[in-house]
Amino acid sequence: MGDAPASWFEARSCERTHAANECGGYSTMAGLAIAKLCYETLLRYGAAAKIAGEQHIVTPALQHIIEANILLSGIGFESAGLAAAHALHNGLTALAETHAFYHGEKVAFGVLAGLQLTDAAPEEVATVFSFCEEIGLPTTLADIGVRNTSRENLMKAAEKACAPAEAIHHEAGLISPENVVQAMRAADAIGRHRKRGAERAGLAS
Ligand SMILES: [Zn+2]
Repeated sequence: MGDAPASWFEARSCERTHAANECGGYSTMAGLAIAKLCYETLLRYGAAAKIAGEQHIVTPALQHIIEANILLSGIGFESAGLAAAHALHNGLTALAETHAFYHGEKVAFGVLAGLQLTDAAPEEVATVFSFCEEIGLPTTLADIGVRNTSRENLMKAAEKACAPAEAIHHEAGLISPENVVQAMRAADAIGRHRKRGAERAGLAS
């Protein structure tokens, strides 16, 4: 469930910029609609599916999420293409401290940072943070093992994410390692701020 939300945001970016998918083709309306259905299914059934999975119970919600994670996400990305989230994932692999974390965990943070990079609406940013928090996905750099958040350390990831062949260039606007460092830091700051807020609310209740 960390990997699958990326399908929609990356598909949307590729559609906006007319970027090619990994096979060199272009998105179809069907591919875009499937990517959107993937995201909507995650938001709707993700939490219930996680609870069911933890209890080894097969429910309709779990089945919907398996479909979203495998079929919808797969068709969505194959048809529409990749963009910032997976490039950020690839960039983060430059930091050895992230190696113990799953692909989907790094992609989830890549989605959050990608939303910062692309000036996504605050309401949408809040929705994706809430989803990640509810599912237990990373929302901060520390959550994917990155304790050294210096510009120098993050630049290693940002430069790899911005390599010429990376799909981050499917995003609109100016994409540079400096902007990527800022986006990672911005997502991390929001994630930490929200964790502090949740802790305060927990103490108050
Ligand atoms: Zn992936």
